Amino acid sequence: MLNVIIFLGSPGSGKGTQAAKLSNAFNYKHISIGDMLRNNVERKTELGLKASGFIDSGALVPDDLIIQVVGKFFEDSASSSDGKIILDGFPRTEPQALALEKIINNLGIALTSVIYLNVTDDEVISRLSERGREDDSPELVLNRLNVYRNQTEPLLKYYSQKNLLKEIDGNRFPDLVFAEITELIGVEA
Ligand code: AMP
Repeated sequence: MLNVIIFLGSPGSGKGTQAAKLSNAFNYKHISIGDMLRNNVERKTELGLKASGFIDSGALVPDDLIIQVVGKFFEDSASSSDGKIILDGFPRTEPQALALEKIINNLGIALTSVIYLNVTDDEVISRLSERGREDDSPELVLNRLNVYRNQTEPLLKYYSQKNLLKEIDGNRFPDLVFAEITELIGVEA
């Protein structure tokens, strides 16, 4: 039976790094929506062409597009595997969270944990200025932090009310953060 772990956190919180570590250590399938989108932009697919303007301005890609992509992924995975899935960068809005719930409920998949990497803005700005991705310019980072604050942060309350939220201090060295994550989800790993 499939189960799902979500990584939540601002840009630069270490979601991608930690999700990759966890998937390698415990055989989770790691789905990074940002990577998936960038790959589509590079290949100039229909999705990539629709998404690129939003990514370039630091805005979120519209919910309906993202939900369609994630829905298709789950339909394909549900029939072909019984593994564990890490969602990195999805959901990022309340409509996405509701859509995810519907998709996985229909398929009998359980959402087991939402790992929230809590990192200060100063740490985010310093990390992203070193990373050097195209959407990591100082102006776009501020845009993305604002978008996070307004559209994604409400999900913390949403998942906390469902007793799924596991908050971790993400300001520390990646290995320490990882050790805490594995401890928190030990039972499911
Ligand atoms: P990330 O690699 O997670 O930082 O995502 C990079 C960019 O991809 C974001 O700034 C958004 O433009 C887009 N993106 C990634 N995930 C989502 C999502 N769940 N909903 C909408 N847009 C997304």
